[in-house]
Amino acid sequence: MGDEHDLRQQMSALCASLFQRGFSVGTAGNVSAKIGDAILMTPTNSTLGNIDPDRIAKLDMAGNHIAGDPPTKEVFLHQAFYETRPQCGAVVHLHSTWATALSCLDDIDPNDCIPPLTPYVVMRVGTVKRLAYVKPGDPRTGDMIRHLKGQYAAVLLANHGPVVSGKDLFSAVCAAEELEETAKLLMATRGMPRRLLSPEEVAELKTTFKTM
Ligand code: ZN
Repeated sequence: MGDEHDLRQQMSALCASLFQRGFSVGTAGNVSAKIGDAILMTPTNSTLGNIDPDRIAKLDMAGNHIAGDPPTKEVFLHQAFYETRPQCGAVVHLHSTWATALSCLDDIDPNDCIPPLTPYVVMRVGTVKRLAYVKPGDPRTGDMIRHLKGQYAAVLLANHGPVVSGKDLFSAVCAAEELEETAKLLMATRGMPRRLLSPEEVAELKTTFKTM
């Protein structure tokens, strides 16, 4: 159980770090990570700023709650990534300010809503798809993620926020931060004649860093 103990401690520490740096406020946001054939998930109505490692929810791969506090009501966002991406080891969902601002814009490309402004979002996140708005807690969001058949490591929920997966918890947190910072740069340069990476430059990064 040493690995699970360490993962619980790491989840609590990374969630606190996200909260302290303003990536989530109040009870917004939720985080999960795979351990063996189970998933650890932040509890419902919890604040990322103060996650008790011993009370983190534990679910089996079918989504049944087996230990700890009840999981976040947005559990289906996480499950859909684990079901469709075998390489997925962790999922981070935030209502972070700039990515959420971007998710509210009418004129972004839903098939590439975080255009390649810097190499880092391409390397750590890849192409991001915007999904249609449904009310919070609506399990149809899980169906929309399943419909993507694991082709995207991250999605942006319209008028809501990002959901980002990674091979492990630290990678998923870094990718969520990178997505947020890129969204901030996109909003800061909006209306300016900016230079995006060319399709050739994006292809080179995807080949070199094996992102998708
Ligand atoms: Zn949410």
